[in-house]
Amino acid sequence: MPDSRVFCSYCGRLSRRCACHEAGSDLQRFMERGGKSYVPCWRGSPYKRGVPPQIKRAERGNLQKQYKIWYAALAESNGECCANCGERKDLVLDHVLPIAKGGLSRLDNLQLLCAACNRIKGKLAIDCRPAKHRE
Ligand SMILES: [Zn+2]
Ligand SMILES: [Zn+2]
Repeated sequence: MPDSRVFCSYCGRLSRRCACHEAGSDLQRFMERGGKSYVPCWRGSPYKRGVPPQIKRAERGNLQKQYKIWYAALAESNGECCANCGERKDLVLDHVLPIAKGGLSRLDNLQLLCAACNRIKGKLAIDCRPAKHRE
């Protein structure tokens, strides 16, 4: 059991409140779709909470403004497919660290996911991008 002051890197909850390890959790369903299995991952500090609505609106606006450009950039570097399961249809830009947890609309915080993976991921922070981007 990890020390009680650590936070889950996926859901951001304190380790003792995190349900990611439970079978059938959102995280596990997401990872199963991508053919992966759950490995716990902890961080020393919580994610930002209670992001003000005006900031969320501004970040969503920033995403919409650059949507096509960022979509094209990700499709070019990582392939036009879901970063989790490889699906090629119904792709959307997803914030790796969700806006609600303090994530920003910037190319380095975005990945392409299919609509189904995006729905399961919800507000979890899961980075599916390849460690090294192809040139
Ligand atoms: Zn968790
Ligand atoms: Zn997918």
